[in-house]
Amino acid sequence: MIMKTDYHIHTSLCDGKDLPEDIVKTAIEKGFGIIGFSGHGYTAFDNSYCMSLKDEAEYFNTITALKNKYKDKIKILCGIEQDYFEPKPMNNYDYVIGSVHYVKVDGEYIPIDESKEVFKALISDNFGGDFEALAKVYFESVGNLLNEVEADIIGHFDLITKFNEVLNICETEKYLNYAFSAVQKLIPAQKPFEINVGAMTRGYKKSPYPSEKILKEINRLGGKIIITGDCHNKEWLGAYFEQAKELAKKCGFKTALYLTENGFEEYCL
Ligand SMILES: [Zn+2]
Ligand SMILES: [Zn+2]
Repeated sequence: MIMKTDYHIHTSLCDGKDLPEDIVKTAIEKGFGIIGFSGHGYTAFDNSYCMSLKDEAEYFNTITALKNKYKDKIKILCGIEQDYFEPKPMNNYDYVIGSVHYVKVDGEYIPIDESKEVFKALISDNFGGDFEALAKVYFESVGNLLNEVEADIIGHFDLITKFNEVLNICETEKYLNYAFSAVQKLIPAQKPFEINVGAMTRGYKKSPYPSEKILKEINRLGGKIIITGDCHNKEWLGAYFEQAKELAKKCGFKTALYLTENGFEEYCL
């Protein structure tokens, strides 16, 4: 495919750095053919990095206006990244990325991707220092994702590994079994898994989500992929996409998907 695309983009209306229009202008300069915004949908228990109801209304109206304003230069889709624990989108979006960002412990929602300090405390205070025990709970939610969120795309499947490199945590056999069982549950719905480079652009990881071993399992079971940036800063639009493609090919994928206003299309890697 010659056209550049990205469908996982955050703006300053949630936890991204840039205004939607500035992102559109940068995407045009960088030669993108289609971009999709995916703000963090309203989540009642987290108003720090998700949009408030007011912000989400503004988000929807702003992106809808930009679609029209730039229609001769770039195709813009208005999507949403909807969390597992707040599964109903507020508006009629072009597409939904379904993601698990929290584990629920004693009625409290604790983010797994906020900082390495919060993550370390989560493991030691709530899981007796056992990363695998946390992974078990996390992947139970991930495996159940499509029963809760009517998602078109499965977001950053193994987000729980965001701090693995800095904290020296490895993928053990037990860990992989929890992950593989979530893959198996998601496969029948035939929704694409993201290859998401968000932790690379932000300096946490040297490889995308999901890991090579998990991608090979997705491929072995006939799953599809879509390459996304999880972009929080317009400077990084399109960064590391070549590495993501190389990894996909190494894991056996011959094709990946892209999304148009008429649904998913497939291209050769
Ligand atoms: Zn996310
Ligand atoms: Zn995101």
